[in-house]
Amino acid sequence: MKFLNFKKDNDKLSIYLSLISVLVAFVPMTILYLAVEREARETLSDVLSQELESKSFLIKRDIERFYLQRMTDVRNLSQADVLETNDLSAIEQYIKEISKNSLFYVDVEIVSLDGIILSNTSEYSDKGTSIFDSYGTSISIIQGAFKGKQGDVLMSPLTKLDSGELGVILVTPITDDSNIKVIKLLLVEISLLPIIDLLNEIKSTEKTVNREVFLIDSKGLVVASTNPNLQQLKSHPYFSDTSALLDKVLSEKNLIGSSLFQGLNNEKMILGFSNLTYKDISSNLKWSVVVTASYDKILGPANTLASNLFWVLIVVAIIIFLIMYLASRKIMSVIWQKANFDSITGLPNRRLFVDRFLKSIQLSKRDSFSSALLYIDLDRFKEINDSLGHDVGDKLLVETANRLSLLVRESDSVSRIGGDEFSIILNELKDPIKIDNLAVSIISSLNNPFYIEGNTLFISASIGIAVYPDDGKDISSLLKSADQALYKSKNDGRNRYTFFTKEMQKRADKRHRISNDLRTAIPNNEFELYYQPIVNLKSVETHKAEALIRWNHPELGFISPIEFISIAEETNFISELGDWVFGEALNMISQVKAKYNIDLNISVNLSPIQFKSKNLLADWLEQLNKKGLSGENITIEITEGVFMINDPSINNQLFQFKNAGIKIALDDFGTGYSSLSYLRRFPIDILKIDKAFVDEIEKNSDDLALCKAIIVMSNIFGIKVVAEGVETEGQSNLLSNIDVDYYQGYFFSKPLAHDRFINYLLSKKH
Ligand code: C2E
Ligand code: CA
Ligand code: CA
Repeated sequence: MKFLNFKKDNDKLSIYLSLISVLVAFVPMTILYLAVEREARETLSDVLSQELESKSFLIKRDIERFYLQRMTDVRNLSQADVLETNDLSAIEQYIKEISKNSLFYVDVEIVSLDGIILSNTSEYSDKGTSIFDSYGTSISIIQGAFKGKQGDVLMSPLTKLDSGELGVILVTPITDDSNIKVIKLLLVEISLLPIIDLLNEIKSTEKTVNREVFLIDSKGLVVASTNPNLQQLKSHPYFSDTSALLDKVLSEKNLIGSSLFQGLNNEKMILGFSNLTYKDISSNLKWSVVVTASYDKILGPANTLASNLFWVLIVVAIIIFLIMYLASRKIMSVIWQKANFDSITGLPNRRLFVDRFLKSIQLSKRDSFSSALLYIDLDRFKEINDSLGHDVGDKLLVETANRLSLLVRESDSVSRIGGDEFSIILNELKDPIKIDNLAVSIISSLNNPFYIEGNTLFISASIGIAVYPDDGKDISSLLKSADQALYKSKNDGRNRYTFFTKEMQKRADKRHRISNDLRTAIPNNEFELYYQPIVNLKSVETHKAEALIRWNHPELGFISPIEFISIAEETNFISELGDWVFGEALNMISQVKAKYNIDLNISVNLSPIQFKSKNLLADWLEQLNKKGLSGENITIEITEGVFMINDPSINNQLFQFKNAGIKIALDDFGTGYSSLSYLRRFPIDILKIDKAFVDEIEKNSDDLALCKAIIVMSNIFGIKVVAEGVETEGQSNLLSNIDVDYYQGYFFSKPLAHDRFINYLLSKKH
């Protein structure tokens, strides 16, 4: 379950990571994009405003000129003599002539004092009809003209002409000979066509910009436009969202500015405006110039750049997202692999093992099955690794992993949980005998030789087994139980499997207690050093003894060193303990020397662990010195275990001991490997034949022969031999027959406490 979540979480994490990197890329590009757009708009606004300011001045001037010119024209026309006559056909001829010459005249009319059209030039008006019917809005100026004098030219407000187009009507009185009496009126309808030309001129000055120019009056009515389809600017849907702006334009004088708006078809537009007023011509003329233009087109290359940038951005974002997503997923899966699998064997590691074991326990709980945990530890793997190198060691692990994997069902899982330790989880176990079967096959499978890089290697395995729910209800107690069972397998001589028992639990608890209590044993004076004499039957003068530690636990009573020394080694307390033993032995030596003039040689047992402290010898020599003693007073007893540490400095250290005059004894010879080659390779002075060997010599003549051979061989190397654990006179005699140098054992003396040992020494003294 847990590892599934792990994957899901990682997927999410990948997505987040990818999004973040996209954002990281997006932010600067978006800022760039916005900057480009802002810059473009500002520039455009500036350009438009400036243009409007200068153009509106020109328009104003041109319109003024245009009207003044027309007014002058009309004034001159009105003074023609023919108009004073009643010759209507001559008048008709005259006005036809006039309108032919001017593009601007839509209609030229002669009107009688009662408003009847006497003569006209266009088909839009009819002779004989009253002008008051058609010029409703301009009536006041027409009436003004009746009261005027020769030379007056009155202009109407902007009017819809008979032709339908917008324009103005210029009215001027025609007077009689005396030039006082108004006899007729001359009306000229002037089209605004030339103004549109003006606007077109503005439009065409900027060819790259697709723009429209309007002239609007104070009500928003389009006076003139380059776009013939637009009539009323303000109400046109095109400008709906700028009508508020237009109101402002129309209500204020001399306003110049521009603004961006959304045109039809979602086109971005810009609108520029400038007010014009012509008070001097007619108070009715208050117009504005409005320019609209397609913003996007005006932006031109800047806009293209910006929008291209935007698309590039999108594409880049997608690419970045994909790359990041794929890369982070890849990385995550590598991390997951690393976090959960062992790189050498490819098996699940401790972490995944714990996960799976948890899952297995949950399953068993649900289905009321049991499940089993097998802890497998390779025996002597370290030796192979140290002597043949890590490459060989690694290959051995791989091969071991392969063999283990072949032995289990698909549903069971094999993990490597550290160094040379493997574990197997058996899920949903119905038949416990299967555990035995598996354990047996693991042991026999690993007993088969391994062929690695030209070496034929033999290893074996120790297995500890714990079963859920009997040996623990949760993962940590099950792990502990399996570990205790494994410990027992190792202690019982390896190459075997052991099921966890309650007994083990008790023993483990005791070990735990001992390891705790050891720390306070020295300050509490709970240790006592005993001395077991080592006897030389030929020279009674020698005074040798082995120092053996005793622990009187205040609650647990006497605890054997066999039990607590190994614990002290595991907890590294052994060095402190060893130093205490050494100090105590020195006290004894110097005491009997001073009091009884006996020169003692005391053997102290040295654990392999103690060699790891580099100052050991220096410290000891200093202590010897202080007491006025020498190395000759000390023998160290080491076991083969010392050579197993595989530390190249060991031999060196041993030589230094030897050079200091300290004798070196190889303890427990006859158990373990007991290779005679040690005698040649290391500076050994004394060999101690193990009690197990001595026990046999009375019953087994082969063992006696072997003992003899060892002694002969040792003598060749100049090594003395001690027989340990001599309990009977028979053993003593046999040993003396094969020329053992020294004897140690209950037959001669048990280990003795301080005072009794001194008594012993005195009893032997002659
Ligand atoms: P070891 O070094 O082999 O010591 C000899 C053991 O054999 C001692 O057991 C001794 O009491 C016992 N022994 C001697 N003669 C006889 C005999 O005739 N019959 C029998 N049945 N036993 C005999 P002990 O004192 O119980 O010590 C056990 C082991 O504990 C020692 O074996 C040694 O390995 C370790 N040990 C004891 N004291 C120390 C110490 O101060 N430091 C270290 N590192 N180890 C110690
Ligand atoms: Ca010993
Ligand atoms: Ca021994």
